[in-house]
Amino acid sequence: MRILAIGECMAEMAPTDAPSTYQMGFAGDTFNTAWYLAQLTPETPLSYFTAVGDDAISSRMLGAMRESGINTQQVRIVPNRSVGLYLITLNNGERSFTYWRGQSAARLLAQDKQALAHAMMQSDLIYFSGITLAILNPEGRAALLDVARSARRGGKRIAFDPNLRPHLWDSSSEMTENIMQAAAVSDIALPSFEDEATWFSDKNPAATLQRYARAGAETIVVKNGAETVLYRTRGAEGSVHVPPLASVVDTTAAGDSFNAGILAGLATDTPLPDSIALACKLAGHVVQGKGALVPINQSLLDSCP
Ligand code: ADP
Repeated sequence: MRILAIGECMAEMAPTDAPSTYQMGFAGDTFNTAWYLAQLTPETPLSYFTAVGDDAISSRMLGAMRESGINTQQVRIVPNRSVGLYLITLNNGERSFTYWRGQSAARLLAQDKQALAHAMMQSDLIYFSGITLAILNPEGRAALLDVARSARRGGKRIAFDPNLRPHLWDSSSEMTENIMQAAAVSDIALPSFEDEATWFSDKNPAATLQRYARAGAETIVVKNGAETVLYRTRGAEGSVHVPPLASVVDTTAAGDSFNAGILAGLATDTPLPDSIALACKLAGHVVQGKGALVPINQSLLDSCP
């Protein structure tokens, strides 16, 4: 199975122990998922679809992707644009994020509909998120959903994490409408209950699950922080216990790494409850480290399907 992740990767400036000194890295929700996925199933062909600029930082980003085992052949190069950037500020141990991404090349990733369709043709499982949609203009969103709908009709599987980020949208109604349009073209929905409850008024994780089932997703996995994960696949429902953790250092990329566990399971035909158990183990490891990309140890990789 060939996997394609679609979205925005940004340059990250993270504070180091030395005063006023930052370390540069690369991260972004769908990219984080691809980064973990490349390690979980290195034998699965994995591509990232985005747009970057034609400058030095864009080339470095593509180099970092390739070094992580992610194919970048489908990435669009947009002249006179660059990649988005965010800076992390630490205040008494709490991380806050400042973004410069309004003019990023990735906002134009759906401008060339044919390139998008071509990338999807080359894959079997296509993954994108609510953030992927949020950064596009209405024409770009329509193009992405249109191409995904056709790909699905042609037998491709579409996986979607709503990843609700209200500040990236003009209004909450624009966000919820677009999210449910994306859900309607998806086979696999990977929502997080807390955000869904806030923006869709779901009373409990079962209500979240039912809403995505009604939208047409065949497989739904509802994440809920330290609480039990609820799932439904081909009509069968169940839940998976989340192993408790002694400490949580930083929840950045908890959901992104979790999704990598689920996609790795799909790529290897693993039963969904086993994939969820792996996803919880990986996400549990990630929240005990700092930053979005936490190195994975061998014992975790050995437990992969
Ligand atoms: P998101 O990052 O999308 O909001 P969640 O917060 O629901 O997602 O977390 C995703 C997964 O990360 C959970 O299903 C769980 O496996 C793991 N996780 C997150 N927080 C904790 C925690 N406090 N203890 C144990 N596991 C956690």
